[in-house]
Amino acid sequence: MSSLQLYNTYTRQNEVFRPLHNNHVGLYVCGPTVYGPPHLGHVRGPIVFDVLRRFLEFKGYKVRHVRNITDVGHLVGDGDEGEDKLGKQARLEQIEPMEVAQTYTVAYNEMCRLVNVLPPGIEPRASGHIIEQIEMIEAIMSAGLAYEVNGSVYFDVLSYAKTKDYGKLSGRILEDLLAGAGNEARELEGQEEKHNPNDFALWKKASPEHIMQWHSPWGKGYPGWHIECSAMSRKYLGDVFDIHGGGMDLLFPHHESEIAQSTACTGHNPARFWVHHNMITINGQKMAKSLNNGILVDELFSGKHALLAQAYSPMTLRFFILQAHYRGTLDFSNEALQAAEKGLQRLMNAADLAPKLPISDSSEYSVSDIEAACERCMNDDMNTPQVIAQLFEAARVCNSAMDGKIKLNSDNVKALNNLFNTWLHDILGIQAEEKGNEEALDGVMQMLLAMRADAKANKNYALSDEIRNKLTDLGFSIKDGKDGSSWSL
Ligand SMILES: [Zn+2]
Repeated sequence: MSSLQLYNTYTRQNEVFRPLHNNHVGLYVCGPTVYGPPHLGHVRGPIVFDVLRRFLEFKGYKVRHVRNITDVGHLVGDGDEGEDKLGKQARLEQIEPMEVAQTYTVAYNEMCRLVNVLPPGIEPRASGHIIEQIEMIEAIMSAGLAYEVNGSVYFDVLSYAKTKDYGKLSGRILEDLLAGAGNEARELEGQEEKHNPNDFALWKKASPEHIMQWHSPWGKGYPGWHIECSAMSRKYLGDVFDIHGGGMDLLFPHHESEIAQSTACTGHNPARFWVHHNMITINGQKMAKSLNNGILVDELFSGKHALLAQAYSPMTLRFFILQAHYRGTLDFSNEALQAAEKGLQRLMNAADLAPKLPISDSSEYSVSDIEAACERCMNDDMNTPQVIAQLFEAARVCNSAMDGKIKLNSDNVKALNNLFNTWLHDILGIQAEEKGNEEALDGVMQMLLAMRADAKANKNYALSDEIRNKLTDLGFSIKDGKDGSSWSL
């Protein structure tokens, strides 16, 4: 009961999670391709894997969390043809591709900070690991599973599939792939270089106008999209590590290719657990340019989008996402977001109330049942909606105790406080909304002015003068009026 069970996409079943190395957990999560501002499709992954990391840490594991930044090699259309996503954006904005990468890496990390996602321990960039990628490609070629044509290198899927499973992760059968491929794919430019249409690029020869290119044994070029994650996860977590995470949209071709590359190179599937979160929809529809429903995270926070009835706070967004199980689809709508906002408020009010609860000698309720249920739910493939249901029960107990309807002894009051701190704040990562600096400063100043007014009322003029003088020294000016004092800096 006390072990975490996770659904492993690779084996299609729940499996008991035990780390490979004692109490150390290696967690690799595919990060963003940084060529635009974060939208609602970007926010679920970091939150889901943040909660997994927090829960593993709660269980006493030391987690090495690696989340990459894709800043090269991811082409428009997600295949082997077309422009680099960053290169295209750089051309449109008339700036360097690395300026595109920096701008949107900062934006992505700021979004993560606002929704209280802990920063990963390592955030490697694809462009900073070209040497590792080239080395891995060479190893795959040495194994006879890749070939060079005109300065590009392709993975030989048919040779690989002779001895290894290809398509197991994504559930695609190679015969189907072979039958389906070739029709449209063959007509794409560059496809004729491949021995087989299912082969994918490990390295692409760069045309002179391609901005991002590097020297390689095969001439100037750039890496394919998939090789970066194989190379960087191996560098920081080893040939085999515990958990590889990402969105279900990455199952094919990205993760299938990662498994093939790593296996070709090391002989092993790199991850023991493949964990995938499901996609989001907006008012029941997929996010698509043609539907004009691509809501940016900033737009959600400001309420400035035609589909939004109001602004929603970062914590409402986080809570909303955790109210759904990570393997189910999640539909954004104003009604659902407003319900999440209300529910969150109810929980936060209860958490604020918990330290102030009246204490009785006897107890009519045991909070330890709720705590045990929370852990049981998280152990059950991270069932965060069920954890939240338990927290609502705790809120009900809290409110009943405050109204005097039930009695709680000091142990149970303590347990209730502990429950909110551990499960709501630490593991689900739901905190009070971040206050701006000005708001925080005003709070501190109001507190000091109230202390000064108290001192004056008690004729403790030495203290009231000291407070005023210290504040003046620090550059504050205090004005006393008939409605009390005010301050400015
Ligand atoms: Zn990846």
